[in-house]
Amino acid sequence: MKFAIVSKGDERSDQITSTLKQHLIDFELVYDTEQPDLVISVGGDGTFLEAFHRYIHCLKSTAFIGVHTGHLGFYADWVPEELEKLVIEIAKTPFQVVEYPLLEVIIRSKSGGSEDRMLALNEAAIKTADGSVVFDVEIKGEHFETFRGDGLCISTPSGSTAYNKALGGGIIHPSLEAIQLTEMASINNRVFRTIGSPLILPKHHTCLLKPIVDRSFLITVDHYTETYTNVKSIQCRVAKEKVRFARFRPFPFWNRVRDSFVAEDDTTIPE
Ligand code: NAP
Ligand code: MN
Repeated sequence: MKFAIVSKGDERSDQITSTLKQHLIDFELVYDTEQPDLVISVGGDGTFLEAFHRYIHCLKSTAFIGVHTGHLGFYADWVPEELEKLVIEIAKTPFQVVEYPLLEVIIRSKSGGSEDRMLALNEAAIKTADGSVVFDVEIKGEHFETFRGDGLCISTPSGSTAYNKALGGGIIHPSLEAIQLTEMASINNRVFRTIGSPLILPKHHTCLLKPIVDRSFLITVDHYTETYTNVKSIQCRVAKEKVRFARFRPFPFWNRVRDSFVAEDDTTIPE
């Protein structure tokens, strides 16, 4: 089996990376950064996003796993103390794979019909540095609302615990193939009206954002932001592609949510 490791780049992550690499090579695994079967991210969720985008060209054949060197992560859920156990698991077992849905974003430009297609593991966030955004929001080809405000966030189920949560969105279990649309400070008055609640769209329900006021948009896909001008439309839906996680032990999503946001199992809640 071929593997690659993506490190956060701090001293601790680099040190864990080199130990992990040596152990896996000792077990006769092949280090291959071109077409790895397994990608291990060492760092935090941000590092995992980085690893995902670096190997986005081989999602079909690659499985991901995350080791966290900071606090507990959603994607990085193995601790460095478990490294030996993880190495043995990787070396000996044909691993199970769990798939999570992704978001597809297509940005079409007014001039010349050029388009940009991207996949997000967490979300796409659309903002402007230039006043507020004004969009016609279409769902399944029908006009739904005209949005005016700071921006919109369209997230995946596994991204629902990230930016989406801070915007008041719901947490969606990643076994549901859906995307969630959350508002950033919508303007609601007698002239502008939006739904106000997060919307959850199933597979095949496309959401199309059509700018009414021509702005330059800041579009962030996961951790990467780009400026777009002359935008005709931004289309979002559940992607055909999925991300594959190598699973060596159960760590249910709701346990991760609880451990990250509520309390760890053995934590006593103060009176
Ligand atoms: P960052 O600013 O370092 O990340 C913000 C925080 O989000 C970090 O604590 C990160 O964990 C955590 N995070 C990332 N994905 C998560 C997930 N799926 N569930 C729960 N928490 C998650 O930037 P970054 O590390 O490059 O991550 C980019 C992400 O930051 C974006 O995709 C967006 O979701 C999130 N973000 C959040 C806010 C907000 O909450 N107001 C604003 C902007 C962006 P680690 O420390 O382990 O990396
Ligand atoms: Mn980070």
